[in-house]
Amino acid sequence: MESRIFDYIVVGAGSAGSVLANRLSADPKNKVLVLEAGRESHPWSRIPVGFAKLIENPAANWLYSSEPEAGTGQRRIPIPRGKLLGGSSSINGMVFVRGQSQDYDTWAQLGNRGWSYREVLPIFRDMESYQGDADDEYRGRGGPLKVTESNETGALYDALIKAAGEVGIKYTNDYNGAKQDGIGMTQATIRNGRRMSTAFCYLIPRAGDRT
Ligand SMILES: Cc1cc2nc3c(=O)[nH]c(=O)nc-3n(C[C@H](O)[C@H](O)[C@H](O)COP(=O)(O)OP(=O)(O)OC[C@H]3O[C@@H](n4cnc5c(N)ncnc54)[C@H](O)[C@@H]3O)c2cc1C
Repeated sequence: MESRIFDYIVVGAGSAGSVLANRLSADPKNKVLVLEAGRESHPWSRIPVGFAKLIENPAANWLYSSEPEAGTGQRRIPIPRGKLLGGSSSINGMVFVRGQSQDYDTWAQLGNRGWSYREVLPIFRDMESYQGDADDEYRGRGGPLKVTESNETGALYDALIKAAGEVGIKYTNDYNGAKQDGIGMTQATIRNGRRMSTAFCYLIPRAGDRT
């Protein structure tokens, strides 16, 4: 009879759950069960522009909303959340931002040992495979999560960046690198025109590699 005994049960195969299942199952001694309430995939999920098709789609979205309250004029505010493998990383906006280094340093100063930016930087480097012009002290090239620098160009972008410069906001070629503040082009969890959800990068990585 098939064994139903597991060392770990991960409930929810979203951003966190997919990574956790990947890390736990890297040790062949571990028997890991992943339980996901949503479907395996959705045709619009792999295509970046499909974001718009999933934002109100109950087939791949829990479609939560906030309670009416005075601060929202008694309105319910939509709170989309992914309901499929990869969770919200399968329906999100794909913008890749690490967060401000000063925030991590402040957390460390408040007593959270191990959370300074210098200490979390190796994890950020290891998790990503960045395709873009960057300083390799800050960016990873061989990790599972595929991140790509936008290659869009045009007069509008040039004018916006120039205008920012005129009010003192300097250009940065990598807002996840040495110089986080400034104006620059978006980096996204997209590779070869396909969304790089955690499902593809961590749960079924060979499928992610094919794209
Ligand atoms: C529309 C949208 C746009 C976003 N845009 C960006 C962006 O551009 N950049 C960015 O960095 N972040 C963005 N985010 C935020 C980011 O995607 C989330 O913060 C992140 O994915 C949350 O990860 P999580 O593991 O906490 O939850 P999720 O990824 O949501 O995973 C939770 C999983 O648990 C499953 N689940 C829930 N209940 C059960 C149950 N009882 N049993 C089994 N499974 C269950 C769900 O179906 C889901 O798969 C966006 C989010 C949304 C929704």
